[in-house]
Amino acid sequence: MEIGKENKFIEFLKKYGLYMAVGVVVFAVALTFTLIAALNGSVPTGVTNLNFMLPMENATIVKDFSNTELQENATLNQWEAHLAVDLTSENSDVYAILDGTVASIDYDYINGYTVTIEHSDGFVSVYSSLSETVDVKELDEITAGEKIGEASESASGELDLGSHLHFTLLLNDEYVDPNDYLSLQAK
Ligand SMILES: [Zn+2]
Repeated sequence: MEIGKENKFIEFLKKYGLYMAVGVVVFAVALTFTLIAALNGSVPTGVTNLNFMLPMENATIVKDFSNTELQENATLNQWEAHLAVDLTSENSDVYAILDGTVASIDYDYINGYTVTIEHSDGFVSVYSSLSETVDVKELDEITAGEKIGEASESASGELDLGSHLHFTLLLNDEYVDPNDYLSLQAK
């Protein structure tokens, strides 16, 4: 009786063993791909999950980001790194690029009126050279695409550029090139 059972099991393996082996391999491969997909989703690679919106409509870059090459500042008559992008547009409205909270509203002679918004995932966006009347106040909860102010000539350090937005993006307290996250129209 026992031997008969064993024989039946061997018969079963002979008949279906290959199918079972194929099944195990297919399952292992599927599991591997699922794990890889899950890992990729959880590791921030710059643009994942966040839905960036543009700070101005149909903007033109009048001065691009540069952290290594110095650019001439015709107003201050000096060569300097430009850790921001300068944008102009027919519509001077300026919009938040992501959901967030207004961290500060400041003024200084060089950068003009500036709104700083803190976002998730370590991003901070800074909108400078705004006109004096901004549409937000400190601690306001902002939605991506919400108007926060208007571009102007308030940045006295960049008067040669005329009315524009001086837009700065930080990730984990480091300046990053906004072009890496936003599809800004090059000049
Ligand atoms: Zn600038």
